[in-house]
Amino acid sequence: MSAPPKPATIPFHRPSIGPAEREAVLEVLDSGWLTTGERTLAFEEATKAAIGTRHAVAVNSATAALHLALEAIDVGPGDEVIVPTYTFATCGEVVRYLGARPRLVDVAPRTLEVTAETIEPHLRPETRAIMVVHFGGLVADMAPILALAAERGIAVVEDVAHAVPATRDGRQAGGFGVAGALSFYATKTVTTGEGGMLVTDDDAVADRARVMRLHGISRDAWKRYTAGGSWYYEIEDVGFKYNLTDLAAAIGLVQLERAEAMRRERERVARAYALAFEAEGLGDLVELPAEAPPGDVHAWHLYPIRLAPDAPVARAEVIERLRADGIGTSVHFIPLHLHPYYRRMYGYRPEDLPVAAAEYEREISLPIFPDLRDDEVARIVDSLRRALDQA
Ligand SMILES: *Cc1c(COP(=O)(O)O)cnc(C)c1O
Repeated sequence: MSAPPKPATIPFHRPSIGPAEREAVLEVLDSGWLTTGERTLAFEEATKAAIGTRHAVAVNSATAALHLALEAIDVGPGDEVIVPTYTFATCGEVVRYLGARPRLVDVAPRTLEVTAETIEPHLRPETRAIMVVHFGGLVADMAPILALAAERGIAVVEDVAHAVPATRDGRQAGGFGVAGALSFYATKTVTTGEGGMLVTDDDAVADRARVMRLHGISRDAWKRYTAGGSWYYEIEDVGFKYNLTDLAAAIGLVQLERAEAMRRERERVARAYALAFEAEGLGDLVELPAEAPPGDVHAWHLYPIRLAPDAPVARAEVIERLRADGIGTSVHFIPLHLHPYYRRMYGYRPEDLPVAAAEYEREISLPIFPDLRDDEVARIVDSLRRALDQA
């Protein structure tokens, strides 16, 4: 007798790409214009409308967008930038690109996000900017952070990599600070494979980012990438190669159009998880992610659960058991201050930012994407219950 068939694997993430995205790419391929051009301009216009900012500057990653944002507000050597430790590599490295110091700060245990209270003790005369990450798609409590920043004359920059679309106090993430950085990386809520966007209401920031994203060549030279362009350009500064392709922008235009429908599907998945955890009676062993305040919108990019501190099975073992059941998971994030670079450069120890260090130890990100079915969610939670049972 043969063994029973193994159930299909459930990946940690599967991008939602449909016929419209395929069609849009083929149109660009057939058009004869592959790099930055008319599709990219259209994608910028659509993003402006979606976020509600005056400007949107398309680039090839959120990392590029954050780098350009800090460059445009003149962050440099001798300056400090407040960076949440509970984030991805991007947030610290862009500060280092400019020769400034990332001042890592701890997060609130429930949301895994910085607050005015976790930021304030780290403010110094050298602090030029505060970077806020809307972790998992939950928009941070911006009003007190903006008030604190305004009081001290410090800029706020948003990492919006997880939060398209998402709101706080009725406002779309990305429009709170002097600039916001969107990511269209393969696993993000709106994807172009690789891609990003800097959004801002500040004319000077937008102008500077447009020049610096393409070799520091003058703004009008951008027009040479259109039919009416000429051969002439002037280099105004030492810029970067951060422009987005029309191939990517064409996918992005379709994805942006579908962004709210895809978000609703992820919200359905989040609700299915909450019901399944309740049904399995796992309330004492698993802490579910924070919800958005009533009336606000959660992007549900991640579904970050935490094991109870006294859970009978270690986090690594739980992840292995889920993997054996064909279920992909991830961990968000390994706090920056635990990484060798930050320990070596700045002498950080785990206990310096204790909340992030402790929460990281018990976090597991479960699959959440638009096509994940309710019965698959039930299977994931059932697998998790069995993983936690067999101590
Ligand atoms: C994915 C991610 C980034 C980087 O996005 P890229 O587009 O790959 O540069 C930055 N910050 C956070 C919080 C992310 O999750």
